[in-house]
Parts: sequence; structure tokens; C-alpha cells
Amino acid sequence: MRTIRTITSLRWWSSGVLRQGSRRCFSSSHNHQATWGFIGLGRMGFPMAKNLRAKLPSEDTLFIQDVNKEATAKFLEENPEGVRIAENPREVAEKSEIVITVLPEPKHVESVYQQMLEPATLLKNGTPQKRLFIDCSTIDPMTSQSVAKLADSTEQGRFIDAPMSGGVVGAQAGTLTFMIGAAPDVVERATEILSMMGRRVLHLGEQGSGLHGKLANNYLLALNNIATAEAMSMGIKWGLDPKALANMINISTGKCWPSEVNNPVPGVIEGSPASRGYEGGFGVGLANKDLKLAIQAAKESGVNLALGDRAKQIYDAAEADPNCKGKDFSVIYRYLGGKE
Ligand code: NAD
Repeated sequence: MRTIRTITSLRWWSSGVLRQGSRRCFSSSHNHQATWGFIGLGRMGFPMAKNLRAKLPSEDTLFIQDVNKEATAKFLEENPEGVRIAENPREVAEKSEIVITVLPEPKHVESVYQQMLEPATLLKNGTPQKRLFIDCSTIDPMTSQSVAKLADSTEQGRFIDAPMSGGVVGAQAGTLTFMIGAAPDVVERATEILSMMGRRVLHLGEQGSGLHGKLANNYLLALNNIATAEAMSMGIKWGLDPKALANMINISTGKCWPSEVNNPVPGVIEGSPASRGYEGGFGVGLANKDLKLAIQAAKESGVNLALGDRAKQIYDAAEADPNCKGKDFSVIYRYLGGKE
């Protein structure tokens, strides 16, 4: 089993002296103005790019791109210094030494990287080292590995997977956790970059490992969420007080994130999505997407899952239910008929 290596944030940007020293990571000369690319300015990408821009030296340039022109225009309006809108992903790749992508699904990642890497003629353009592509999207490891191969085999750059957790709140606060799959020689460089948008960077192994870790975690989360909803429902039906039951579970062996932090029963945890009509939080659609990716990747690797397909049926049905659609994933409790 691999050892998980935790790399604490370097926070080099917080001091001018340190920042100057760290520039050697990106440049062989102190005068070099680094160029950065960011593709996908959605709920996660927008605040991440904003934090990145705020922490970059003012002389660096950030090229942004999104199919949604309103998103790029809004970003430029809010961050006018050192930001340029690129016409397409190819322009981003041509002009940037480091490219970060935050896209919805595998097909978007595939298409954006094809546009960046084909034809395979990206030149170094005087950049001091190979381009680094960092994909923070949650996609299947197979697609990610095929994109990495395309970048690597054509020697146009290095590609790493860096899925994240922490949600939109973490993206805004710059407190995300990144799980990265990367060759050892790019880990330090990637960690410095991602630390500008997050608090923790966990290196899980070679390229693809970040996604394997993320999907295993989110599979467990999706199942724990259903199990918590059922356990709470049965206790309440037997006449137990919901808060007393949750408190007991949370000092006992059933404790898990859905029972302790995101309890699905309204009123058990003040301020939780369940306590505000299941609004905000981690959408049931996103939870279902990650569950689907985990099941698919497990099946491709020959892993036998006893619970995955049944859980998927429940999430599919909840996502299609007008009372649950678009809500926090703890709404599974409502879908299963829990007392509110
Ligand atoms: P989002 O849909 O809000 O944003 C995606 C952005 O990508 C949009 O602005 C969209 O216009 C843009 N886009 C789509 N196709 C594009 C293309 N071909 N070229 C350029 N831009 C394109 O999604 P999000 O919530 O920001 O999530 C992004 C990724 O992060 C997903 O893979 C998601 O699973 C993962 N994630 C999300 C959360 C969360 O809480 N939202 C948490 C962890 C991980």
C-alpha cells in the first residue's frame, strides 16, 4: 500500500523575500515574467482563479478561458490587473507555462486538452521548463491517464490530476484540499502552485492516483450518506430524539461525516443544509456524478462492489425527484421518506 505524503503549504507568496526565492521554481532568471492559464471559470474555477491571481506577482500574466463568455468578462472586470482573455484553449496553451483546468466532466476535459495539444506543435516559446498542466476536475482516471499520455508522448508538457475537496466555500476561502497524482519530480512545483488556492496538497502516487483517492473517498461518502439517513430514520421511528440519537452515534462506532457534520435530519445540526431546506452544500447531482465515476472505475479494475449499483439507483431517483433535485445530497433522507 502506498504511503500518503502530506506536504504542508509552503505559503511562499506571503513574504516578498520568499516569493522572490520561489520564482526560481518557474524561471531561470529573476526577470522572467511567468505566464499562467486558467480554463473553466465556474463555481469552483472562478474563485480559485481569483485567489491565484491575487497571490501571483503583479508582473505575471494570467490567461483565462471559458466557453461562457460572461464568466471571463466578469472575471476581467473584477480582476483587471494582469489578466487577459484567451480566445480558445489553444491560445492558453501557447501562451502559458502553467495551465490549470477546472471543468465539469470527462468529455469537457478531453475536448479542451485535445484543442490544447493537437496539433502536437506547442513550442517552448522560451519558457524555462516544460509546461505543466494541472487538471482539478473530478473525472474518471482512464480519461485523465489518456490525456496525460497525450501530453507526455508528444513532449509538450507534464500533466497531473489534482481533484479537490472543500466545495465552493473552500474555493472562495482558498482552503481546498488537493489530492494529486503526479510523477515525483513535479510534486514540489505542483504543490507550490496549488497552495495558492488551497491549504493542503496530498500526493497519492503517480498520475491518476489523485482521482483514484478522490473517487474512493466520495464512494464512501455517498454510501455513508444513505446509511446515516436510514439509521436516523429508524431511530426516530422508534421514538428517539433526533439530536440525542445523533450525539450518541457521534461518540460511537457509527460516526461518519454525514452523521456528524452534515446530518440529514433538519434541526439536528444548526446551519447544516438539512436545517435550511437542503439548500447549498454538495449537490445531489455532483454526489451522483462522483458515485457513477467511482463505480465505473472500480468495474474497469475488476473490483466487486456489493452496494454501488443499489446506491446509484437511489441517487438517480432522488436526482429526478422534483422535491430533491438540485438540493444538498443529504436530501436522500427526504427521498427515503425520513420525517422532517
Ligand atoms: P461548473 O459547471 O460550475 O463550472 C465549469 C465551468 O467550465 C463552466 O464555467 C463552464 O462554462 C466551463 N466549461 C465547460 N466546458 C468548457 C470547455 N469546453 N471549454 C472551456 N470552458 C468550459 O462546475 P464546478 O462546480 O466549478 O465543478 C468543476 C469541477 O470540479 C467538476 O469536475 C466537479 O466535479 C469538481 N468539484 C466541484 C465541487 C463543487 O462543490 N462544486 C467540489 C469538488 C470538486
